[in-house]
Amino acid sequence: MLSKTIEKALNDQITFEFFSEYLYLAMASYCDSIDLGGFANWLIAQAEEEHTHALRLFRFVQNREGTVELGALEKPQSSYKDVEVLFEKVLEHERKVTGRINAIYELAVKEKDYPTQVEMEWFITEQVEEEKNVSDILKQIKWVKDNPMGLFMLDQQLGQRQASALPAGE
Ligand code: MG
Repeated sequence: MLSKTIEKALNDQITFEFFSEYLYLAMASYCDSIDLGGFANWLIAQAEEEHTHALRLFRFVQNREGTVELGALEKPQSSYKDVEVLFEKVLEHERKVTGRINAIYELAVKEKDYPTQVEMEWFITEQVEEEKNVSDILKQIKWVKDNPMGLFMLDQQLGQRQASALPAGE
């Protein structure tokens, strides 16, 4: 059984994961509008991954006999100065997610809610990878941003990402 505090924190996080999906789709649309289809592809795959995160938490709350209550999604930012600024926002967003996951973990430790700690451990590990991937792409953007051929090649590379399989339990 979930405490009301943890149930609320998890519900807020479910909404936030759906917002991440929504934000990355808006970013994908911007990249398409400036003819960077590979960047758009990467962001759509990222959005799909956020969807699986939301569903994973959704299922977790249900399994703990809590009640899922979805919140409202705000309108995501739809235009950016360029892809460098856009990926700075992605990194900032992922760091915000990490902070939120850490806070839920901390709450679960305080309340001695062991199942939520274990569930958050999966997300903590996932966030290390998310931040690393985004930070690597941002570095590459900085190297090539004034070189159309470099940007073209990076776009090709990002175009190869496929949506990952649903995590276990989905
Ligand atoms: Mg996520």
